Amino acid sequence: MKHFTTRAAALALALLFAFPLSACGKKGRPSAGIDPVETPMPTPTAEPTPEPEPTTPPVPLVAWPTTAVVEHLFFHPVIAYPKWAFHDCPSSQSQKEGLDDWMVTVDEYNKILQSVYDNGYVLVNMNDVWSEYTTDSGQTRMRRNTLMVPEGKKPLVISFDDTNYYEYMLEEGFTSKLVLGDDGNIWAECTDPYTGETFLTQDLDAITILDKFVAEHPDFSMNGVKGCLSLTGYQGILGYRTQTNTDDTSAAFEANRQKEIAAVKPIVQRLKETGWYFGSHTWGHVNLSTWSLDKVKRDTQRWADEVGSLVGPTQILFYPHGARPDGDHDQGEPGPMFQYLHSQGFRIFASVGINSYEKCKTEISAVICDRLHPDGTTLRSGKSLSRYSQFYDAKEIIDLDVRPNLGVTW
Ligand SMILES: [Zn+2]
Repeated sequence: MKHFTTRAAALALALLFAFPLSACGKKGRPSAGIDPVETPMPTPTAEPTPEPEPTTPPVPLVAWPTTAVVEHLFFHPVIAYPKWAFHDCPSSQSQKEGLDDWMVTVDEYNKILQSVYDNGYVLVNMNDVWSEYTTDSGQTRMRRNTLMVPEGKKPLVISFDDTNYYEYMLEEGFTSKLVLGDDGNIWAECTDPYTGETFLTQDLDAITILDKFVAEHPDFSMNGVKGCLSLTGYQGILGYRTQTNTDDTSAAFEANRQKEIAAVKPIVQRLKETGWYFGSHTWGHVNLSTWSLDKVKRDTQRWADEVGSLVGPTQILFYPHGARPDGDHDQGEPGPMFQYLHSQGFRIFASVGINSYEKCKTEISAVICDRLHPDGTTLRSGKSLSRYSQFYDAKEIIDLDVRPNLGVTW
């Protein structure tokens, strides 16, 4: 797996600060009447994320111990129109309560980002947290890297599940797809469910909100890193219907699919340029604890064909429903499904839990990890209050005025 190593990241950051600020991507306004002479810019050796100019002197990097936790939060798409989603949309009550369980609203998300930032976290790339090495006996295994972070900061991974813009979400008060704006940046397309008006925004989508937040708070990110987008494939990706359909093999369907594929490529490209990276959430949002190995093999191939072909290979697998293959696989020999998934290039296997657990397996080159989940279930939960207190106070975050009246246990 080729990825940005920690050392390269630290080096890139060091180089960045070694150049004058004019080399950071923004140029001063030329004086009137004088043609500016372009100074050749150094060719960047790494991801050319546009770096906002630091407003304070660079903070020295220090080693984050391999025994200290690297926290990991994950979100689903955020609810742009909560009153619609929770009350006014025509979906069933159980569907609305599902949104309450698993999502946060835009306002809650904004408050969470601010609080996480205020608590000293800095975004790092999940691919940098561990790497594969060869043991003395010639076996490959995964191990934690020593992350270099600005002094006083704590590393944080954020991932976003199901960033596919599923059709049901379009009816329930979410944004509908990512697009490239005239300014070359990522925007979200959104339709106001009350007026039917469609418009572009950067204020109602988890991805564009984080882009804006990092632009305003560059010290929230190492080298412009944002988050990992965890994609299924059954309704395409990022709002584009790039999936095949075994029930419709018509030329018209395929022609439309090719159009969608062509349209999403520049979005993927721009996301990668601006600090986003990708993981698999299986093609069909498969429950890996109940599906047969044969079905999982077909699903994995389909993800590679239809999603991996667009976003590139990934070593990260986010278990749908948090469901693990082969039972409890933290200890002992890996089971047949885990071995199969490993053979397909996966090294980091992420579930959901009550803390940012991690375990590098000793029997195979793989990391098992859990993620915390800011959402209605944890915001309402007294038990979760202390588990999330390093990030925020749920009492300050949850918007009980707009959520359904389901109570809290704190
Ligand atoms: Zn999911």
